[in-house]
Amino acid sequence: METTPAASPSAMPRPNAPAEPQFSSSNTKEQDQKHAANSSAANIPQPKLRLHVETLRHPATASFLTLIPDIASTLDTALYNIVKYLYSSPLHASLDSVCNQKVQRPSFSPSTPPTRSVTLHLRDIDGVAYTTGTELDDDHKEIHLSLPYVLHCTTLANPLHELVGVLTHELVHCYQHTSPLESINDQGAKIPHPPGGLIEGIADFVRLKAGLEPPHWKKPQSAEERAEKWDAGYQNTAYFLAWIEDVRVGKGAIGMLNDRLLRVGYVGEREGDSGVGFWKSLFEAEVAKLWEEYGEYLDGAEEKKAKGNWEDEILNAE
Ligand SMILES: [Zn+2]
Repeated sequence: METTPAASPSAMPRPNAPAEPQFSSSNTKEQDQKHAANSSAANIPQPKLRLHVETLRHPATASFLTLIPDIASTLDTALYNIVKYLYSSPLHASLDSVCNQKVQRPSFSPSTPPTRSVTLHLRDIDGVAYTTGTELDDDHKEIHLSLPYVLHCTTLANPLHELVGVLTHELVHCYQHTSPLESINDQGAKIPHPPGGLIEGIADFVRLKAGLEPPHWKKPQSAEERAEKWDAGYQNTAYFLAWIEDVRVGKGAIGMLNDRLLRVGYVGEREGDSGVGFWKSLFEAEVAKLWEEYGEYLDGAEEKKAKGNWEDEILNAE
């Protein structure tokens, strides 16, 4: 498999603000038409996609390329899901929600990160996969996928489902917000980073909503089955976020959360911080309270709460 030469950065102007993400233009290839046909979200990013195969002799290399012969299309579908679940505001996407006065729907102005290229590296490394920016420029992302893990996947009942799930999770990392572009606030203080568990939870939230959860994930059926903490990460946090989106707040809630990481940052959540914190400003409740409500919901106590701002129905069952 070929290894493409480095992109020439000067050929593409760098978007200078999050308000100007690099969306697809009308003259980009057949992928636009394909997505225009089946997508209500028109603004799917079109990064340069590259593949780097470290070793053609590794037995998993051929397996991977056989399982996913059209990697671009797989990543485009993942991008479509990322836009659908993190960058679609109900008030922008649908008039229905405007007419539905019953619930205060989430609303925000979606702004995708200016990621310009994603390079998939197939490598003989331990673990599953990880994503990083390149040394030169964080707008260029690299997804490193473990070939031994690919080999492990070939022993699963549905290797493709797992691999696409992993790639979707990693691609979320290329397209999620963690903090404002300016890391210093007006008072000269550094804006804190969100917990790693939230970042991983958002990545798995998209994987979950895309229907790509692995068979070993288990949706908790009771408060006891929850993880100990809301930011335990991965599927633990993903199911919590899905509850916020599907039950507690409504469609677009996690997109709004992701958006707030860009616009404001994960502020007001450190011990001793005063004022309205990140969670309360979003959902009118501290995260500890939300976690508690989630436990009550899982225990079937939601009927007792069917008053105030608690919704007594699934807001957007899918
Ligand atoms: Zn991750």
